[in-house]
Amino acid sequence: MSPSRVLVLNSGSSSVKYQLLDMSDGVRLAAGLVERIGEESARLKHAHLTSGAVREWTGPIADHEAALKALAEELDKDGFGLDSPELVAIGHRVVHGGKTFTEPTVIDEVVLAEIERLIPVAPLHNPANLIGIRTAMALRPDLPQVAVFDTAFHTTMPESAARYAIDVQVADEYRVRRYGFHGTSHAYVSRATAKLLGKAPEDVNVIVLHLGNGASASAVRGGKCVDTSMGLTPLEGLVMGTRSGDIDPAVIFHLARVGGMSIDEIDTLLNKKSGLVGLCGDNDMREIRRRIDEGDAKARLAFDIYIHRLKKYIGAYCAVLGTVDAIAFTAGVGENAAPVREAAVAGLETLGLSVDGALNAVRSDQPRLISPEDARVKVAVVPTDEELEIATQTYALVRQSD
Ligand code: ADP
Repeated sequence: MSPSRVLVLNSGSSSVKYQLLDMSDGVRLAAGLVERIGEESARLKHAHLTSGAVREWTGPIADHEAALKALAEELDKDGFGLDSPELVAIGHRVVHGGKTFTEPTVIDEVVLAEIERLIPVAPLHNPANLIGIRTAMALRPDLPQVAVFDTAFHTTMPESAARYAIDVQVADEYRVRRYGFHGTSHAYVSRATAKLLGKAPEDVNVIVLHLGNGASASAVRGGKCVDTSMGLTPLEGLVMGTRSGDIDPAVIFHLARVGGMSIDEIDTLLNKKSGLVGLCGDNDMREIRRRIDEGDAKARLAFDIYIHRLKKYIGAYCAVLGTVDAIAFTAGVGENAAPVREAAVAGLETLGLSVDGALNAVRSDQPRLISPEDARVKVAVVPTDEELEIATQTYALVRQSD
């Protein structure tokens, strides 16, 4: 049998997540996480998935190179070393591909330079992604390394959705436009939703609600994204765990002029101290629901603001698409929080939307419908799998160029 293993790497500023998959049968062989890179108390957690064995250790990990070497050693102990002939490629999650990268791309020096050129629009993410890629390339220079971009799925948005209504010259000079993120998840979930409906992606219109700690919505017409809620950065759109989502941009001028806050302070406020955590002190939906059950008014208001924004996007994307076949909930909140799903579509019967209480209450890790059988618009819960999508795209690309 030809080699078919793909390692997926997701390098953040202080962490690296990884999964090893066998693409001949889609089986996940190993998965892990290195976190607190750069600290004395860095942590590595590695799971050998076919046996269920888990190894964990804490200690100093100086940088991404050390992190990758450490995870490679763990893989090696399970017989999955990076030098294994079974490994056909490494797929890297890259957050920002700008307008340039519309597809997964085999990484070479030109691609690296372009990812680097995009750093001004993704100052937190692209540098970390680049370090991960460069380190992996140094460890296995002969192996194809593929970049799968979070923005790629959204590059099909028409200009009417992708452009902000600001001076065109300024926008073009500084590449200010709506790029969207979570694209790998939106791509995977919209296709999986079509499959759940027994249809081809080209034949359905789907609204995907990716509700994790970060959250975004997308309108997908016939398999192609036509609008999404995140913009130049992941700050725009829905209320999130710690991000505000949509606000009047003049709030920033006001806080600077009247509040005397610096741009960096406002950046931190809106990205890290807003959203659910800013509203009630908690960003975990489980904790918020627990507090609501105890009669906590702050948690209630935070939940109501979260749902109000979500409803606005559902309504807006019904209008953008004209005809909607299904709405799919995904990610941590979307997959697990039945009260969020129920509240998000409550009162939207005129749009053809409702959930069946009993179906909505079922807990499962499988894609499923939660709308009444005769519903005009299906409501679905579709667990996302970004690693599988990255591995699938990576494998397809390297097989194609074999
Ligand atoms: P991210 O990848 O953006 O970090 P996830 O998709 O893993 O986020 O989602 C994490 C969030 O999912 C948590 O912050 C929490 O609010 C929510 N969540 C996870 N499990 C549950 C659950 N059982 N019930 C309600 N919310 C949940």
